[in-house]
Amino acid sequence: MTTETPRPPNPHRVVIVGAGFGGLETTYRLAGAPVTITLVDRRNHHLFQPLLYQVATASLATSEIAWPIRYLLRGRHEVTTLFATVSGVDADNKRVLLDDGDALPYDTLVLATGAFHAYFGHDEWEPFAPGLKTLEDATTLRRRILVAFERAERETDPARRAALLTFVIVGAGPTGVELAGTITELARDTLRPDFRNIDTQRARVVLIEAGPRVLAGFADDLSAYAQRSLEEIGVEVVLGKAVTECSADGVTYGGERLAAKTLIWAAGVRASPAADWLHAPADRAGRLQVNPDLTVPGHPEIFAIGDTVAIADTSGKPVPGIAPAAKQQGRYVADTIKARLRGETLPPFRYRHAGSLAQIGKRKAVIDFGTFKLRGALAWWIWGIAHIYFLIGLRNRLQVAISWLWIHARDQRAARLITQGSSKVMGPAPTRDPAYKISTPD
Ligand SMILES: Cc1cc2nc3c(=O)[nH]c(=O)nc-3n(C[C@H](O)[C@H](O)[C@H](O)COP(=O)(O)OP(=O)(O)OC[C@H]3O[C@@H](n4cnc5c(N)ncnc54)[C@H](O)[C@@H]3O)c2cc1C
Repeated sequence: MTTETPRPPNPHRVVIVGAGFGGLETTYRLAGAPVTITLVDRRNHHLFQPLLYQVATASLATSEIAWPIRYLLRGRHEVTTLFATVSGVDADNKRVLLDDGDALPYDTLVLATGAFHAYFGHDEWEPFAPGLKTLEDATTLRRRILVAFERAERETDPARRAALLTFVIVGAGPTGVELAGTITELARDTLRPDFRNIDTQRARVVLIEAGPRVLAGFADDLSAYAQRSLEEIGVEVVLGKAVTECSADGVTYGGERLAAKTLIWAAGVRASPAADWLHAPADRAGRLQVNPDLTVPGHPEIFAIGDTVAIADTSGKPVPGIAPAAKQQGRYVADTIKARLRGETLPPFRYRHAGSLAQIGKRKAVIDFGTFKLRGALAWWIWGIAHIYFLIGLRNRLQVAISWLWIHARDQRAARLITQGSSKVMGPAPTRDPAYKISTPD
């Protein structure tokens, strides 16, 4: 069966796969163009991934960082939104293949399917050290973190209690640093008055990084500042040691074993299988190597953008896998489609790096704009304002601003809810916790 895109006003059919930062931006930018658009995503929501760690650490609710795609495009009558999973591309017949057997015909195809966490060939670690990419991941992590404190409250064996109160984060990029800082504050400030048998301030948060410094993408002095700031609030930073094993009882790194019941993976990414779908060249992380105009080699009618592609900027450095890069590429592709329909050609894509930001704790952040660098409280305010600005909708902006001010003033995190199961699934679980398998977002 073939699902036909409604196409009365203009026959040029654009299919966009992925409503993340890149795909949504392409769709927005094509407004007014003489095309019909079918936007396909296997989730029904667009997700603001930069704040996922705040859901994982009970600071924000899921609905504050995600929006139904259908709702975002409700005013765009030429756009059809489909909730479906793409499983391949039949490039010869210009059809996108869905996993339920349907196919979507296209004249122009845009692949914006993003990336996922990767375990450097050790996928068996995933159940013990989940990554953070989806709302389900975030609520699963939130559950694990909160359940660990609940179990520790009832645990009488000191070694088991210590393992329950040890939180290990693998990878000290922005996500790892943000998680480490926030979990520490959760333990030290938010949870402290609420427990009777444990001192939550004694929880250990261990951040393990194989490279020589935290925040490797930032300038050296900002990395050093971030490390100092983390250590000041009690995070144990381990550098230059690779993790060699993750299990239900802990982690091994640099030949040492650490007993820990909560492990979080923030170390590697692998691109979506877009390159496999097209038998196109890819780099080691599976990123599709696109032409300078973001088309797939041999297929001028197929564009690929965002985290799923590898492309260099004008200085030869790889364009980073961050939201602004995906959005710039989305805008470029939309402009190219419009130019082509006018019979024109655009110059190659040029990436402009606006800067990098990371939050360290609730009053500290680092900002690296290249020539201009900032750290500390002022950087935190700028970080906060920038993130609120990029959220969608006034209600969410207000809600997030209020949640952050509340955390700032009262150390209270409103989203401290253990969902996806009752205390029965929380009881003693020496090996695999059944709750860990449940991954429905709230
Ligand atoms: C925890 C975390 C924190 C981050 N923090 C920051 C930050 O602070 N600043 C920053 O700039 N960037 C940050 N990033 C990176 C940023 O989110 C990505 O660079 C950006 O999302 C890439 O956009 P994209 O459109 O390529 O992919 P995505 O935004 O990931 O969108 C891909 C879309 O494709 C859909 N999809 C995938 N496969 C299929 C399929 N087979 N069928 C149908 N649909 C499919 C997915 O459901 C998703 O909606 C962070 C990422 C993570 C995971």
